[in-house]
Amino acid sequence: MTQLTPRYLVSFHPKEIPHRFTDILIIGGGLAGLRAANAVPSDLSVMIVTKDAILQSSSNYAQGGIASVIDPEDRFEDHINDTLAAGGALCDQQIVDMVIREAPDRIAELMQWGTRFDSQAGVLQLGKEGGHSHHRVVHALGDATGREVMRAMVAWTQQSDNIQILENSFTLDLLTHEGCCRGALIAQQDGQKLMVWAKQIILCTGGAGQLYRESTNPTVATADGHAAAYRAGVELRDMEFMQFHPTVLYIAGSSRSLITEAIRGEGAYLVDQQRKRFMPDYDERAELAPRDIVSQAIVKQMNDSKHPCVYLLLDHLDPELVKKRFPGITASCAEFGIDVTTDLIPVRPGAHYMIGGVTVNQEGRTTLPGLWAAGEVSSSGLHGANRLASNSLLEGLVYGAHAGQGAAQAVSEMPDNFQAVPLDNLAVDQSTEILDLDDIRNSLKSLMGRNMNVQRTASNLQEASETIDRWRQYVLPRQFSDPQGWELQNLLTVARVMVAAALLREESRGVHLRADYPQIDDEQWKRHLRFRRPERVDQEHCPVG
Ligand SMILES: Cc1cc2nc3c(=O)[nH]c(=O)nc-3n(C[C@H](O)[C@H](O)[C@H](O)COP(=O)(O)OP(=O)(O)OC[C@H]3O[C@@H](n4cnc5c(N)ncnc54)[C@H](O)[C@@H]3O)c2cc1C
Repeated sequence: MTQLTPRYLVSFHPKEIPHRFTDILIIGGGLAGLRAANAVPSDLSVMIVTKDAILQSSSNYAQGGIASVIDPEDRFEDHINDTLAAGGALCDQQIVDMVIREAPDRIAELMQWGTRFDSQAGVLQLGKEGGHSHHRVVHALGDATGREVMRAMVAWTQQSDNIQILENSFTLDLLTHEGCCRGALIAQQDGQKLMVWAKQIILCTGGAGQLYRESTNPTVATADGHAAAYRAGVELRDMEFMQFHPTVLYIAGSSRSLITEAIRGEGAYLVDQQRKRFMPDYDERAELAPRDIVSQAIVKQMNDSKHPCVYLLLDHLDPELVKKRFPGITASCAEFGIDVTTDLIPVRPGAHYMIGGVTVNQEGRTTLPGLWAAGEVSSSGLHGANRLASNSLLEGLVYGAHAGQGAAQAVSEMPDNFQAVPLDNLAVDQSTEILDLDDIRNSLKSLMGRNMNVQRTASNLQEASETIDRWRQYVLPRQFSDPQGWELQNLLTVARVMVAAALLREESRGVHLRADYPQIDDEQWKRHLRFRRPERVDQEHCPVG
C-alpha cells in the first residue's frame, strides 16, 4: 500500500520551542517574495525567511529578462495571444489579460526602485525570445538580468524598517489550526527550531528543478514549498507540466548553465554534429519556436543520431555583438576552451521551470485560508501547459504585488492576537538503519531524468511511480535533523505527485509529451489535474498518498 505522506517532517512541541510573532510571514526571498514584502504598508510587520543567503534564488540567476509591452509598435493583444498560443489551451484567459496589462507598471516600478535595465539613449533595449511575436524583453547587464534586479530589490527592501529578513532558515512546515494557516515551523542555521506565528502567510519558495540531474536551477530549488503546502492539505495542480529549457550547456564537469533563449533571438542556430541546421525541419519558426517544440525536436535529433547533445552555432553573427550582448555565456564557455563566436556550443534540454504548483486565484489566495502564494511555487493559470519565455519573473512581480496587498488588507481586518495555538506533533521515528541520503537523491534525479523527462510513456511513468513509492516507504516516516534529509523528503513527495499527474494525463499538451498518446485530446483533457493530500490512503480517486 502507498505510504501516506506524514503531516509534518519533524516532531515538535510548542512548549519547548521559541515563538515569534509577525503580521505577515513571507517564505522565500526571491523576486516574488521581495515584491510581496514591498506591497505591505509600513505600519505592518513583515518577516521574510530564506533557506540560504538572500541572493541564492532562481531570480538571481535569471538571464534573458522580463517580458512587457514597451515598444509603441507592440500591442497588449499580441503579448496576450503569444502567451495563449504557447499555453496549449490551458491558460486562464482572464489571468493572462490581467498579468500582461500590468507588466509595464511593474517594470516602471522596478526602475523607480533602482534597477538599471539595458538602454540606449534613454530608450530601453528590448530582446526577442521564442514564442514572442515582437521585441519585448527588457534585460540588464546583457545576460544577467536577475543579478541586477535582485541587487536593486534587496537594497530597496533593506531600507524598510518594518521588513526583517531571516536568512539561512529552513521552513519545515506550515502550521495550521481549525482550517487556517497560522504560521510556519522553521529550523535556523544552528538547528534551533522556531515557531513563527503570523496573521497571514505568503509562500514564495520557487521551483523544483533539483528533482533532475540536468537542471538550470540553483540548489535551493527543492520543491520545499510545494511539499509543505501538500502536507498541509493545500491544493496543487498542473504538476505534470515541468518545462525543460532546450539549451542547457552540456560539458562534463561544468555546472549545467543555461544558455539563454535570447541568444537564439539574436540569430544563433541549432545544429547537429555536422553543423547542419535542423529546426526549420520541425517548425516554421525554426529556433524561435516555443520551448516545448524546440526541446522535443532536440530530443528527437539526439535519439535519431544517438549523439548525447546538439549544438548552438553563432559563427555567422557579428563576434563583437555576441560578446557584448552575452558576456556571461562567453566567459563560462571560455573556461572550457569554447570560443562562442566560432565553436560549436554543446547543449541539451534540462529541467528549468515548474509550471504546476499551489493553486491561486487572481489575488494570490490559495485554497487554505490565511495562505497566499506567488511566483514559481504557484499555479495561477498564466502559463497553461507551457510557459512563454520571460513571463515568469513578470508573474512573480504581479502576483507578489497582489498577494502582498491582499494579505495586508486581510491583516488590517484582524485583531492583534499574540498567542500560540496548541499543536501537538510527537511522532516518533522507530528506524535505526542509517540511510545514504545522497545515494537516494542521486537515484531519484536519474530516475526523473530517464522516466519523467521531455518524453514520457505509461510504462516509464509506472516504473517511476513504483520506485518512488518504495523509497517513500522508508524515507518519509524518518525524522531527520538537517536540510539534506528534509529536502529529500520534499523531493520524494513532489516527484510522486508529478509522476501521478503525468500518468493520468493520457494526451500530449504543452510541455507534457506522452509518446504513447501523441495527440492533444481537448474532449477529455482540456482541464487541470488537482491534488491534495488525502486524510487516508484508500480515499477514492486519490492516486497519491
Ligand atoms: C538560470 C535561470 C534563468 C532564468 N531566466 C529567466 C528569465 O530570463 N526570465 C524569466 O521570466 N524567468 C527566468 N527564469 C525563471 C525565473 O527566474 C523564476 O521562475 C523566478 O525567479 C522564480 O522566482 P520566485 O521568487 O518564485 O522564486 P526564487 O527566486 O527561486 O526564490 C525562492 C526563495 O525561496 C526560498 N526557499 C525555498 N525553500 C525554502 C525553505 N524550505 N525555507 C525557506 N526558504 C525557502 C529560497 O531561499 C529563495 O529565497 C530563469 C530561471 C533560471 C534557473
